[in-house]
Amino acid sequence: MKRLIFLGPPGAGKGTQAQILSDTYQIPHISTGDILREAVKEQTPLGQKAQSYMDQGELVPDDLILDLIKERLSQSDTAQGWILDGFPRNVSQASFLEKLLAELDLAADCALNLEVPDEVLVERLLARKRKDDNEETIRRRLEIYYKDTVPVINFYRERNTLKPVNGNASMEEVTASLKAIIEH
Ligand code: AMP
Repeated sequence: MKRLIFLGPPGAGKGTQAQILSDTYQIPHISTGDILREAVKEQTPLGQKAQSYMDQGELVPDDLILDLIKERLSQSDTAQGWILDGFPRNVSQASFLEKLLAELDLAADCALNLEVPDEVLVERLLARKRKDDNEETIRRRLEIYYKDTVPVINFYRERNTLKPVNGNASMEEVTASLKAIIEH
């Protein structure tokens, strides 16, 4: 059973690594960003509400995200575990997740924090060419990351579940570091 949380700034490689580990361990990769992008593409009510926040690099309000995660984590493919990528993004989401899991008699195994210096992030994000990856939104996403998401690192550190990982290495090296921690 593997219940893994991926933390790290935008551009740290969370999505890539989460997908690799999802294939390796055969557990779902749950990316709130991917779910939201799909909703925007389909122009569902969720997508319509989320779009302007995403285009500006702001966080989508919690009330749009919390039900979505609760519903996703209750689906049957999560029985063997999951990898969360892009959630929790702030301390209130982290508290919500902790309570939700406690109700299910579960807890996350660890929060893997991919550490990458800012200069490298901006370079990587500009190379990625996603719709919300222009210089202004990148700057805004990094600001939001420091303000709202860095406190989540402390949340898991206090619970002794934080595992720092050097994300400033080749994809293969980062995967190897992650596996070493997970399989420890
Ligand atoms: P990501 O793919 O994780 O970089 O997410 C892309 C965008 O989706 C973010 O810039 C936010 O606008 C939104 N988003 C994704 N996950 C969350 C979340 N857990 N809480 C709030 N907004 C989110």
